Amino acid sequence: MAYSREAKILVVGSGVFGLSSALNLVQNGYKNIEIFDRINHDKTKYNPLNGSDCASGDINKLFRIYYENKTLYSKLAISALDVWEQWNKDIQKLSEEDKSRFIDDDLELVRMSGAMRLNSTSALSAVELTNLEGFNELGLRDLQYNINSKKDTQRAKLVGLSAKLDVIDDWKQRKKVTTISGTLDGVGRMLKADKACFYVKILLEQQGVKFHYDDAGTFISPITDGCEIKGIKTKDGKSHFADLVIVSAGPWSTSLVPALEHHARASLANIVYLEIPKSRQDLINKYSEYPHIQWKTTSSEFDRNKNHSDGEGGFAFFPPTKKEGILKVNTRQLKYWNPVKVDGKYVSVPKTLGDEKLPKSVIQEAKDILMAIAPDVVSLTGIKVTSKLLWYTDAINSDFVIDFVPGYKNLIVATGGSSHGFKFLPVLGRTVVDRINGVSNDYTELFRWKSTDDIVQDNYGLKQDVEKQDYRKFDNAEFLEQQDLIYTEEDLKRLESVVL
Ligand SMILES: Cc1cc2nc3c(=O)[nH]c(=O)nc-3n(C[C@H](O)[C@H](O)[C@H](O)COP(=O)(O)OP(=O)(O)OC[C@H]3O[C@@H](n4cnc5c(N)ncnc54)[C@H](O)[C@@H]3O)c2cc1C
Repeated sequence: MAYSREAKILVVGSGVFGLSSALNLVQNGYKNIEIFDRINHDKTKYNPLNGSDCASGDINKLFRIYYENKTLYSKLAISALDVWEQWNKDIQKLSEEDKSRFIDDDLELVRMSGAMRLNSTSALSAVELTNLEGFNELGLRDLQYNINSKKDTQRAKLVGLSAKLDVIDDWKQRKKVTTISGTLDGVGRMLKADKACFYVKILLEQQGVKFHYDDAGTFISPITDGCEIKGIKTKDGKSHFADLVIVSAGPWSTSLVPALEHHARASLANIVYLEIPKSRQDLINKYSEYPHIQWKTTSSEFDRNKNHSDGEGGFAFFPPTKKEGILKVNTRQLKYWNPVKVDGKYVSVPKTLGDEKLPKSVIQEAKDILMAIAPDVVSLTGIKVTSKLLWYTDAINSDFVIDFVPGYKNLIVATGGSSHGFKFLPVLGRTVVDRINGVSNDYTELFRWKSTDDIVQDNYGLKQDVEKQDYRKFDNAEFLEQQDLIYTEEDLKRLESVVL
């Protein structure tokens, strides 16, 4: 069914999928768009340390174009980068009034950091070799540097990347690693996630898009006439009629559209922040030169159905900006589910805004990682880490789901960001526009509503029933206590001996 440019379109959820849907609709002439969110992102500014609890609302995300041999994602990322670079300039042109709405004046959305994919093996892992094949296919192999190849490291140094490689020398010297292989990626960048989302929100407001927040923005149920969706009801008791509803509520999507169960599922993510005191700008400057680091990428997607609390799963490290000075670590441990019965069906629903805490094992591992990487920071007096619960939206084969919901009229879902959706903020909504216009292309095929028969490798356990796996139930985890966040004398005794 075609929708006119005047059609009333409601977008439920204003993370990157919702924002991008609205943005691309506006850019294609759709005039009557309203966005709903249960959280007031006017107040949170999408900042996790300021009350934001969605995956999009983080301090930073990695921009990468390596996707093993899934080059459609690489190409999409490359097209998104053009927009990112433009936004990076345009954000400076906002009015002073709009600039003052951000959480602070550090308005750099994209930062050239470089990224390293490293393993504790002597030879490049199978995944790394496939990544390099992917770069070859794209004609971009020259932008990757094998850290154990003299020729490649020489090239990296010639283009000014030696500070990134110094990190490996430092780890070896301090005996944090013995055997190491991997690639320095000259394309990897840091995206300022919270600021980028808030910037797009401002762009949308400038185009007349209306935002509803808190109870007025909380989707409770669809308004239906048989299989036809006529609008939504919100928690403040109001009904909003519409021609089309787009559900882009990230990991909450499945609880709003239970038909998504076994297609997209909320699973626990963890983030641990370590803020360097502003009085130590020297340390902030030092770590701001670090690249993004992925440690252990030996399988294409670690089997996250298992518990890797022994560190076997590896981690991702995010360098700080010079102004913010926050180190960030994301460990690859078990991705818990939180089964809740919705419409007679169990689905996993994110738990975030109470005093929910991360599993103790995550904090223990993250503290160790930070001791190995940044001993001069963790040994500062009174230093402690901060933890944050975020939730992934795991989808079949990690492919996004941007499609009409089978069996319904006027209902699209845009979700399934898994662990890689953020970088596509500028372009995700293109597929929403294509769906509305009945256009078929590589991306409408890639992001179609899939079935569990399409699963190539069930790394997320999507075939399993969410309520039947006791070991994965979030409530069964052993949670951290406040004192676990502090570096104790006992912890610091292991400073020399802790390894990656
Ligand atoms: C720990 C972690 C690290 C990641 N790292 C990267 C990375 O480095 N690079 C990258 O590209 N991607 C990364 N990703 C993936 C990326 O962050 C996600 O794919 C993306 O942010 C998901 O966006 P979303 O809009 O689907 O969901 P979300 O960001 O979760 O947003 C959903 C929104 O829906 C709202 N909502 C929920 N229920 C309702 C309701 N009933 N009514 C109204 N609104 C509702 C929520 O409040 C929220 O604002 C990472 C993800 C995680 C979790």
